[in-house]
Parts: sequence; structure tokens; C-alpha cells
Amino acid sequence: MLRMMVVTLVVVVLAGLRIPAVQAEDKQVLFLSKSQAFEHGPVARAEGRPSLCDVVLGKLVQEIGGTFHSTKDASLINAEELDKYDLVVLYTQGDLTQPSVDGAAPMGANGVAELIEWVENGGGLVGFHAAADTFRVGEAPHAFITLLGAEFLTHGAQFKGTIQVVDPKHPTMANVPDGWTLNEEWYLFRRFDKDTMHVLALLEPGAERAKQEAYNIPAYPIIWCSKQGKGRVYYSALGHREDVWTNPQFQQTVIDAMEWAMGKGRTRAQPNFDKVVPTAKPEEEAAAGSRAK
Ligand SMILES: [Zn+2]
Repeated sequence: MLRMMVVTLVVVVLAGLRIPAVQAEDKQVLFLSKSQAFEHGPVARAEGRPSLCDVVLGKLVQEIGGTFHSTKDASLINAEELDKYDLVVLYTQGDLTQPSVDGAAPMGANGVAELIEWVENGGGLVGFHAAADTFRVGEAPHAFITLLGAEFLTHGAQFKGTIQVVDPKHPTMANVPDGWTLNEEWYLFRRFDKDTMHVLALLEPGAERAKQEAYNIPAYPIIWCSKQGKGRVYYSALGHREDVWTNPQFQQTVIDAMEWAMGKGRTRAQPNFDKVVPTAKPEEEAAAGSRAK
């Protein structure tokens, strides 16, 4: 009983001192996978069962001593709820303020603004794959896209691409082998936020340049991060395929990304786009062929 009270007192004292949440033993992780127009297989909950991402991310969060909360309810992205979390992981799609194919509740009108404020105050944000196909609306980049770093443009047929690590010293790249080849659906992007983006890895299309016109381009950003106020943001375009999520190497990179976003290791997020990304970008050339998925 006494021991319990001591624990309670310590918690109260820590709360009183406003120690950053990242120092807490039990990290709270919220995973949002609301899909407005197209729901990817890894986040689909067949007959109410947890999705593959629910299972994999739940296991990984447990491994790093955190508590995993999974939802498709985007209305939970609000200041009061976000206050409970150290990290938000997104595998979302579409305009989250709208009704969706998965039936999940929409985000409130202030959701994105409150998410941005939460990140700027020290929250960690990690996005995978279709997170960049979220809030792809309007003439100018949506505030969400500016936060994440770029907007999904299009993709071609899946192929085995090669990942070139451009910042091997970054904590999130510790388990990404340079020259890692993966069969994936490789996203192309537009509206890169070069003012904040720290590119971590490029996709090298290799022989695919001769096979698919969309990929007949120089190597381009596929994993990046940024610092937004006191918060850290990480995005990886990987995660379309189920065998990527079950790949132990990929899972280790997910752990590294989540821990870094919650404050572990050096920030190392100085903007580097023009230094590390080869010249031509796919945005203009492929603009005509944009499609969802
Ligand atoms: Zn996809």
C-alpha cells in the first residue's frame, strides 16, 4: 500500500514539474488509420478483427515499453485527446474531415491545427505510406502536407527498388541497410517542403527506369524527417504491402522511427533537400497521371 502511494506521489511530482512526456516510462502511442476513399490492406479490419498494422505496431510499441491505442476515429485528433499521447502514428488516407469508406468518424474542423500545435509543443509524429495521400486537397499544399513534408502524387506498378541511405548517422537509419532492396508500391511525390525536410533515404529506381516511364527519374526522397517547433516528424513511404509490415528488418526501422520521434537520440533534422536530392523532381513530369491509392 505504502509502495503504491509512493508511486502515486512520484507521478504527481513529475506532473507538477511538467517533465516532458518522453521521459515517462510508459509511453502512450495513438495509431490512426482512418481511410476516407481507399483503405489499404494492412489497415483493413476484416470482420472487426485488428488490422495487420494494429497487430504489428501493437507488438512493436509493447517492445519499447509503450501502450498502444489504435483507432480509425479521426475525431480523437483534438487538443484535449492529444494531450494524453507521446506519439501519433498515421496510416491515413484522404480528407479526414469527410465521411469515409471504413465508416470511421471524421476529424473536427480544428483537428489539423490542433495536431500541428501538439507537434510544435513536443509531440512526435510518424507517418507511413498513405499518410502522404491525406488532405490532398486544394490549390496550395494543405497545412497537414506541410507538416508531413510532401504530398503523394502517383505510383506505378510495384517493383523491387533500392533504398539509398543519405544520412547513415541518423538514429532512424541505424537499421536501414544502404542498398536495401524491397518489393513495394513506390510513391512519387510533389509539394516537397524543402524548408524543413531532412531527407534520410532515396529510392533508386534502377532498371525500372527502362520499364516504367513514371520511374525514369533520378533517385528521389522516400524517407525523411523534420523538426517542427519542439516536436519531431518522420515519414516513410514504405508500407503498402503486407510482407513489408511482417519483414523483421522493416519492423526494426519502425521501432527506431517511433523512438526517435519521441525524443530518443540526436535530432539531426537540418534541412538538406538541395544537398542530397539529385536534380529533376517527378512532380511536374508526372502531374498529369495523378491517381489515388
Ligand atoms: Zn499503396
